[in-house]
Amino acid sequence: MPSLSTLRLGSQGPYVKKLKLSLNGLSKNYNNFSIDYSFDQKTEDAVKNYQDDIKLFRDGIVGPATWASLIARVKMIQVKLNSLGDNSGTPDGWFGLKTTNAVKKFQSEHGLVQEGIVNPRTRAKLFNPHPRDNFESRSSSIALSSLDPYVGFLAGRFLRLCSANHLDVRITTAFRSWDESDRLYALGRTVPGSIVSNARGGDSYHNWGLAFDAGPFENNKISTDPTKFNLMGRLGEQVGLEWGGTFKSIIDLPHFQYTFGLTTEDLLNGKRPPR
Ligand SMILES: [Zn+2]
Repeated sequence: MPSLSTLRLGSQGPYVKKLKLSLNGLSKNYNNFSIDYSFDQKTEDAVKNYQDDIKLFRDGIVGPATWASLIARVKMIQVKLNSLGDNSGTPDGWFGLKTTNAVKKFQSEHGLVQEGIVNPRTRAKLFNPHPRDNFESRSSSIALSSLDPYVGFLAGRFLRLCSANHLDVRITTAFRSWDESDRLYALGRTVPGSIVSNARGGDSYHNWGLAFDAGPFENNKISTDPTKFNLMGRLGEQVGLEWGGTFKSIIDLPHFQYTFGLTTEDLLNGKRPPR
């Protein structure tokens, strides 16, 4: 393949449209950019979100590494669809009309909404059609037992450490159901309100029992004191959790996670934490 030119804010042309088709097809078009020839601000935001997801440096510029990862991800889907008899054409790494139609065919065969994009539920069905766990249908819970056992163990240590530091920390969300994530994602998009989340069901570590939210309480209410949140975050890091207060994209002070080095895409592709 000839080397692709680097695209960035202000770029124009057919490869911008190809980029947008791929991001959209991979379910990374959170901000509803239009599929055209202009690399606008919404496109840059989508590229940054994508780079975050796959742990590339989030500069919003589509250079060789970002192109290579996009093409590999689309190709992987095309190969899978072809193997299932849903003809997506020659696996070329571009999310064109044939691939879109093959995704729609797969979605109609599996009772999924026919969006023609590989949303998380579609990815889960494609790559892990008979999961032995049932994350997709579990209910939301604030119980530590709803978490992965090791993450639940870390959360318990964290709560004890907080209380030893005279901080009344309580869990506000542990496992979050996929339906609840979908409802949060719909806010500000298909349902009136403001946008609160970029995660559809399956996109969040909460949907896999690998994340929980917590808050420092004062007089039975969540504290508004930033120093208490900072102390809580540092104590979480001390037990080995990753704290949302250190996130580069959306700072998320109540959020803690332990991912075993897996991305949510890995989880949707059928990978699981070690037992
Ligand atoms: Zn969270």
